[in-house]
Amino acid sequence: MNNMLSKFHSLRVRTFFVILLIGIVPSIVTSIIFFNYIRSRLISSDVTDMSTQAALISNEIVSYDYFSNPQQLAVNIELSATGNVYSGRVMVLDNTLKVVHDTYDLYEGRTMVWENVIKSAYGDTTSDYDTENHTLTVTQPIYDDLGEFIGVVLITESAEYFETNLEYCKSVVILISIVLIVVIFVFATLISSFTARPFVDLKNSIDNLSKGFGDGTLNVNSIKETEDISESFNRYNSQMKLLDDSRQEFVSNVSHELKTPLTSVKVLAESITSMGDGVPIEMYQEFMTDIVSEIDRETKIVNDLLSLVKMDKTDATMDVSPVNMNELVELIMRRLKPIAEKQEIELVLESFRPVTVEMDEVKFSLAISNLIENGIKYNEAGGFVHVSLNADHQYCYIRVEDSGLGIPEESLDHIFERFYRADKSHSREIGGTGLGLAITQNAIRMHHGEIKVASTLGEGTTFDVRVPLNYIKEEA
Ligand code: ADP
Repeated sequence: MNNMLSKFHSLRVRTFFVILLIGIVPSIVTSIIFFNYIRSRLISSDVTDMSTQAALISNEIVSYDYFSNPQQLAVNIELSATGNVYSGRVMVLDNTLKVVHDTYDLYEGRTMVWENVIKSAYGDTTSDYDTENHTLTVTQPIYDDLGEFIGVVLITESAEYFETNLEYCKSVVILISIVLIVVIFVFATLISSFTARPFVDLKNSIDNLSKGFGDGTLNVNSIKETEDISESFNRYNSQMKLLDDSRQEFVSNVSHELKTPLTSVKVLAESITSMGDGVPIEMYQEFMTDIVSEIDRETKIVNDLLSLVKMDKTDATMDVSPVNMNELVELIMRRLKPIAEKQEIELVLESFRPVTVEMDEVKFSLAISNLIENGIKYNEAGGFVHVSLNADHQYCYIRVEDSGLGIPEESLDHIFERFYRADKSHSREIGGTGLGLAITQNAIRMHHGEIKVASTLGEGTTFDVRVPLNYIKEEA
């Protein structure tokens, strides 16, 4: 059953059956209608003929006053002749519906209570075709010269002859139908494989591509649909290639970044061991401090990578709840205050109104604290980091402005890339991983927000963040 259904999944099989149905059903219906039409035409023409004959007989019965003398030879000869013409039977009934004459000599003297005879007693001419015995019977009332009902004429015809003709017709039509069905069958097979061909080609081309044959692009242009599919496939493929390239670049960057502190640790440790027992304690302590700071750096990179991976996940990982943004930003700034004081940076918060935002608090605080931390890090003693918080009926706006080093114009487009650092030498000294802004951007995107940067080298940098007050759930 399942196998049958799976076959109907195929475009070729479906097209084949549709053509077969369209071809065969109408021809069967037409044949049936045709036969019924022919039969009814034959019946109606015979009915007309038999009614005329019945009228003639009625006239003779009246003119010879047949009911007074049923032995009347002229009328009886006429009745027998009519019976012979129709290869059937003629009966004459009087006004009490008693059979006065039956050409089969079977019913004479009996009263006939048949629906059609009774109808004729009431003045109707009737006809009836018996499909089982293939007989056609016509009944007609007889009226005398005064218009009085005096009896009924009943003529039964054996319709065997047109049934034989119909049978002959039927066999010719069946023969033609068989030829037609064979032609439709061949036609359906050809058309269905012709229709499915481009899709088979498409599948083969994709199979070949996945085996590594061809130049990596799909070009099945036999019909418009496969041409469109090829174009969409090529677009998707090039996106995948880009994604793959960026993934590879990311992996190589990660490996490189993780290797650097390890290499430093190795070099430092080897230097100490190569010096043997005579290492002065100060040098020993200095090298150990360097080793600890390299390990700290390695830990920070790993932590940042983990945060980034979390940010790459989907909607399902968002733990959204309404959060008082003023309190959250205050808390972040309180946490960063010791670092700011150490570097003699002034931290200022300006809240224009109370703001509540639906968000994932952990992810969003990471984004904001990265921005403020950068403002402190890439700053000079005596500088400031100014954070302002505002909202309208739809969005919450956060601005982080610093009086720091600024970002060179050519770097502005790249600072949100993973591992990108604007001023390599300076950044190394300041100690970052190049992942902070990538994490920030991802976190803001997960809240369907936006982040913009403006900076002047030597004067400072401003980051503007905008997030919707109500969290927009992604459509499944
Ligand atoms: P990092 O860990 O290096 O700080 P980020 O992704 O946070 O990495 O920042 C990327 C680069 O952008 C930094 O290396 C720095 O050069 C530059 N940058 C970020 N924020 C600021 C800022 N407030 N002032 C000046 N430069 C900045």
